[in-house]
Amino acid sequence: SSDYRNSVSLPRYVRVNTIKTTVEEVIEHFQSEGYVLEEPIKILNNLSPKTIRKDFHLSDLLILPPNTDLHNHALYLSGNIILQDKASCFPSYICSPSINSYAIDACAAPGNKTSHLSAIMNNTGKIWAFDLDKKRLKLLEKLTQRAGCKNIEAIHKSFLDVDPLDERYSKVEYILVDPSCSGSGIVNRLDGLVDSSEQETYQSDLIQKTQERLKNLSEFQIKIILHAFKFPSAKKVVYSTCSIHSQENEQVVKEVLQQNNNFILANRNDVIPTWDRRGISSEFVDDEESAEKLIRTLPEDFTNGFFVACFVRKTSYMENSA
Ligand code: SAM
Repeated sequence: SSDYRNSVSLPRYVRVNTIKTTVEEVIEHFQSEGYVLEEPIKILNNLSPKTIRKDFHLSDLLILPPNTDLHNHALYLSGNIILQDKASCFPSYICSPSINSYAIDACAAPGNKTSHLSAIMNNTGKIWAFDLDKKRLKLLEKLTQRAGCKNIEAIHKSFLDVDPLDERYSKVEYILVDPSCSGSGIVNRLDGLVDSSEQETYQSDLIQKTQERLKNLSEFQIKIILHAFKFPSAKKVVYSTCSIHSQENEQVVKEVLQQNNNFILANRNDVIPTWDRRGISSEFVDDEESAEKLIRTLPEDFTNGFFVACFVRKTSYMENSA
């Protein structure tokens, strides 16, 4: 399994931008181009050319065969569809901010998850979208405008420098935390982080560099989640990475649970229960339930390698489920 990232080609996932159109309209558009609508299925290899189907888990997602190039397609250029891997649609879907609510996207650019949040909120309420990278934030502004989002304010700033007690954010209930990570889950990218057969030929100092990099990344990831926990009205904080390393995933979760008293993991039932691949249980000794509350994806699931954790404020979560 070590070199899957070079050999796999994933289906072409199409997220329907429900701000501008509907799933039915998009399907009809593709049908008018000769696509044939087929039944949703879980096993997505051998998709026939010119077929389209609804996704099994996400209602706003459509699936086309691999290598379908839609970058010049009218629906893409008009912001009616977003080209986004399935797994990266999970965080906003799990966050599910309600209509007229307030949200923060802490590491937002280029904004695929921001526009997804915006669509789920039906373009109401408000989303503050932070990013440290000015160029990427410009792209976020362009893409979210194209998507018709009217409830987003893009701010060029480190999320760590945002004051959680600032009056402006006093009603923020939902926070998405999708920080920089190693990217080791991304298919077709070879960054030399995972491949064990390759690692044997590595110079030992290169391995050490990798470990150092993962350590730095996870320290940053822990910091940024703990910062999100400080917002007084935050009741849901969704953390995600496109990494397959437990140092950036389960181990980060363990650490932030240990370092705070207010947030716990949401129950499995509230975190796409129909998704089978969960967190790595051996990372949670004496606490296998925690792993079940987390989501992992791999190319075997026809997506990039990805990780999602959904933290909820203990008090409000208990009240709601009582
Ligand atoms: N959520 C984005 C999306 O779905 O389109 C992708 C985000 S990408 C994985 C991580 C982002 O975090 C990068 O754009 C990077 O510039 C940003 N970033 C890194 N450090 C940050 C910080 N301290 N505050 C805010 N953003 C930061």
